[in-house]
Amino acid sequence: MNRKNRMRRKAIFSLMVLVMVLSGCSLPSNGEELVPEELHPDDEITALVLEGDVQLQGIEVFGAGTHWMTHHETYGHELLPLSLLTLFLQDVEEKASGRELISFSIADKMIDLEVGTAQYYVDGEQKTALGPSFKNEVESYVHASVLQQEMEHVSATNEGYSMGEIPEDSMPTSALRSFLGELGHMTLINKMHGVEREKTGQHLINLNETYPQLKLTKNDMLFNEQAAVALQEMLDEAADTEGMETIYVVSTYRSFDYQQGLYERKINQYRTQFGYDEETATIEAGRIVAIPGTSEHQSGLAVDFTSQTMMNRGQVLEQDFLETVGGAWLVENAARFGFILRYPSDTEEITGIMEEAWHYRYVGLPHSLLIQEGGFVLETYIDYLKDVGALAVQLDSGERYRIVYVDAALADVIFVEDAFISVSDTNEGGLILTMRIDQ
Ligand SMILES: [Zn+2]
Repeated sequence: MNRKNRMRRKAIFSLMVLVMVLSGCSLPSNGEELVPEELHPDDEITALVLEGDVQLQGIEVFGAGTHWMTHHETYGHELLPLSLLTLFLQDVEEKASGRELISFSIADKMIDLEVGTAQYYVDGEQKTALGPSFKNEVESYVHASVLQQEMEHVSATNEGYSMGEIPEDSMPTSALRSFLGELGHMTLINKMHGVEREKTGQHLINLNETYPQLKLTKNDMLFNEQAAVALQEMLDEAADTEGMETIYVVSTYRSFDYQQGLYERKINQYRTQFGYDEETATIEAGRIVAIPGTSEHQSGLAVDFTSQTMMNRGQVLEQDFLETVGGAWLVENAARFGFILRYPSDTEEITGIMEEAWHYRYVGLPHSLLIQEGGFVLETYIDYLKDVGALAVQLDSGERYRIVYVDAALADVIFVEDAFISVSDTNEGGLILTMRIDQ
């Protein structure tokens, strides 16, 4: 997507949410002068020759203020990959550079780092860093002290480097982990992006037992634990709305075995009733019933609704649901609770599923609002995040979020704290990190 399109997209968002690049955020200045310490004595640094690859064993990211710790045998947590900084800060722009020079602009300053030495230049003025920066075939590693010296909101602590103010209570309290390959709120599940049996069936609760006040059309419905909290809040508010009719939950989690059973029954039906051969029966069944692993209901994050009007008509899952009081309320309000209408009209070419007025998917805030306001479906929204890399979002309510798309190439060395609002494998080659930024 070119810059112009990107700007237009952003203009669309500004209808309701304010999207700003991180450079626009007013982050607190730490105000302290950096005092160089003897981390790497100068003579050792300047004599250092870049040999082989610089490889980081891991990158940890944690807390609301985006706190970093990188692991490298020689340089501890001093080296930060420039590509990742670009994602988190979005005002780091890498310029043309060779093996000897890493050249980029940040905070309106032009910085040239001499690869493998402690020398660097800010707008032509020579300075000395605490250690060398490196460049290899795929990545530029910037010494953290350079950023700390040149950017007001970057500071060093015992925990690593902070990319903004960290509230006391957001310091790491739980284990950091990779999240790669795990089913999450932003996991894409469609005909092209299936999930394996082993990844399904986790973090589920029994809706009937946990939320007995919900109106369910059958017993023992299972649903994602976090999505269920939002579901309960949403249907509570609906019930309190004047002139509202009862909204029923018709279908939630489906196990792999259940989907497999549905699929096989359909194939058998085509073979016995229509006399199709196995290949034709399999193809035809796949058009009606989702192939096991490709139904969103297997995630525990998808839910089908119906309303009293539809129940009275004996039509549970029909397009007319949109025109009922309950269906219309959901279209208007679901995004405030983290849900999206997953298969809207005129999107079949992208989603592979015809319009379904009853099928909602939990993606969480602020993604649901961004998807609704931007006119996206999950597929195009993930593409958009991949394209912009990082976003800072402020909702009308004043809540601020930071969203970062991390490519799979880096995703397997990134470890993220549980406390992030959500960290989700997209199932298409990346991770989406969502952070709530506390004021
Ligand atoms: Zn459904």
